[in-house]
Amino acid sequence: MRILCWKCSGHGSATCDVCHGRKVKATPGSDGTLSFFACSACGTTGKSQCQLCQGSGWIDHPDSAPRTPPYIKDPLAGTWTATGGAWVISKTNTGYQVVEHGAAGPVGEGRVTSFDGDTVVVSISNKIMGHRQDVMRLRGNFLRKVNGFPITYSRC
Ligand SMILES: [Zn+2]
Ligand SMILES: [Zn+2]
Repeated sequence: MRILCWKCSGHGSATCDVCHGRKVKATPGSDGTLSFFACSACGTTGKSQCQLCQGSGWIDHPDSAPRTPPYIKDPLAGTWTATGGAWVISKTNTGYQVVEHGAAGPVGEGRVTSFDGDTVVVSISNKIMGHRQDVMRLRGNFLRKVNGFPITYSRC
């Protein structure tokens, strides 16, 4: 896999190391004055070939060593459906927010008040049924309600 050279951003050229892009070289003479010469290293373009990509603008991506860790799916964030309803759980800076959907659209909202990786406590205000607290057990792609009437939500 080839990726865009990060050193030259794909331009294939870098600032000339000899004249630092000024296209001329300043050489101090014996009397202290500077003499300017056209830079021969870059042919007075001020640029040299990018050393990293040899001017091609592309470098080989080390496939065996990915620079970013693999994306880890959030255990709770996502859409969960059950008979006659669904939860859309989204992760925010302050925790998980839950929007409860009925057949006709959103009917309530709440948040996860406790989650230890196994037990999920959800506090929800439903327009019809009022406020309630659901205690759920998380098993992979299933959320099973363990207090009150048993409902199982499965992840979409
Ligand atoms: Zn130069
Ligand atoms: Zn380059």
